This record gives sequence, structure tokens and C-alpha cells, in this order.
Amino acid sequence: MKSSLRRQWIRKTLIILSFVLLPATFAYISCPIIIRGASEGIATGGLILFILLFVSSLFVGRLWCGWLCPAGGLQEIYFTINDKPAREIRLKWLKFIMFPAIILIPLISAIQSAGGFAAIDLFYYTEHAISIAKPGAYIIFFVQIAFLTAFALLGGKRGFCNYFCPIAVIMIIGRKIGNLIRWPALRLAAAGDRCTDCKRCSNDCPMGLDVFAMVRQGRMENAECILCGACADVCPKQVIQFE
Ligand code: SF4
Ligand code: SF4
Repeated sequence: MKSSLRRQWIRKTLIILSFVLLPATFAYISCPIIIRGASEGIATGGLILFILLFVSSLFVGRLWCGWLCPAGGLQEIYFTINDKPAREIRLKWLKFIMFPAIILIPLISAIQSAGGFAAIDLFYYTEHAISIAKPGAYIIFFVQIAFLTAFALLGGKRGFCNYFCPIAVIMIIGRKIGNLIRWPALRLAAAGDRCTDCKRCSNDCPMGLDVFAMVRQGRMENAECILCGACADVCPKQVIQFE
């Protein structure tokens, strides 16, 4: 198997496996469970994960979204049903409203009402570290699956990531701060002079980015890029690379 094909095979295997494990892990990425913990003065495993995602995004941007996010795995499965790119620019702002509405403001008010954090519980709302051990948790789980499904089927490729995901905003902020400080970070680079205008990179981008235009403009940095490497791996001329 060619190394470029192997990289995408590994990536897809990882991200779909992450989705398969979601019934066991969803307490760690569920905003309502993190807020609930904060309102009881508990810093949950999910909150610690969000902090780690922010810190990692300073160096590797949204690599999590491209390689490990279970929600990304489910949406990539839905490519078989709807593989239209999600390019509705106005809807992309929705997630920047969702971030304060779903995470930031409820989290701050929960911390205030609890008078701060009194404990850390990495396995909060789990049974022996496994999610969905309590009846109420099933409702949260299925509501989140329904949301992901609706956005992916109606909005196009990774519609939920593009339009709604408040967790993505945490990493977009981290990436922007990293760029501002000119921090050394994982990036895409392109040798545009080798490009033959085939546009396969744009067609294969799971985030629906116009990668061909990015190559031609010599601007590979994009806050929506999840560093999945699909564009680099599909390019017949090896124009795009990680650096
Ligand atoms: S896949 Fe490669 S050659 Fe084709 S348009 Fe994209 S960068 Fe250019
Ligand atoms: S631009 Fe390339 S690396 Fe970024 S999301 Fe699109 S395909 Fe993945």
C-alpha cells in the first residue's frame, strides 16, 4: 500500500474506531455533563480534555478533529450518503454563537454558583470510566447522535463540524492565538508551481475547503482545516505536504 493511502487508511480507522467507542466515552466530550459537574464544584474528565484540546491546538491546530473526534468519525461514515461540501459561509458563524451559548456562559455561571472547584473527578458521570451507565445519560447520548446525523445529512460533509460544533471553536481560538504569537506548529505547505489544476484536493477535503484555491493563492492556513492530510494524500503531484 502506498504511504499516502496508508496514512488515510490509518486516519479513517482511528476516527471510526473513536466513534464506535463513543457509547463508552461520550461523558468526556459532552458539554451538558461538563456543566453539570462544574455546578457541583467538580472539574470533570471532560473539562480537563477541553483544556488539553485548547493547549494542543496551539501546536497542532485541529488535529483532534481530523484524527480522533468520534463525532468526526460518524460524519465521515455519512459521506456515503451525502458527500456534498458544506460551503454555506453564513452558517459557519453559527458555531461561534454556540460556543458562548453552550459552553462558555453556562460553564462560568456553573462555576460561580458552585463557588469554584472543590474536586477533580476524571470519571464523573461514568461507571468504572464507562459512560452511559445511568438512564438519564442515554437521552443526552441519543440527542447528540441525532444532532450529528441531521447536520451531516442536511448540511453536507462534516456539516456539524462546519456549522455547529462549539468544541471546534476552542481549537480555532487556540490556533489563532498560536498564529498571532507565530508559535512553531504543524501546518500544510504547498509547492503551487507543481499543481496541474486537477482539483482533486478540493474534492477530497472533508471540510469542504477550496484547497485548490488555497494552493494557488499560496495561503494554506485556514482555521477550518482539521489537518487530516486528505488533500496531501490525494494530490497526484505531491504539491501539498505537512511541515
Ligand atoms: S490535487 Fe494537487 S495537482 Fe490537483 S489541484 Fe490539488 S494541489 Fe493541484
Ligand atoms: S485542507 Fe487538507 S488537511 Fe485541511 S481539512 Fe482539507 S483535506 Fe484535510
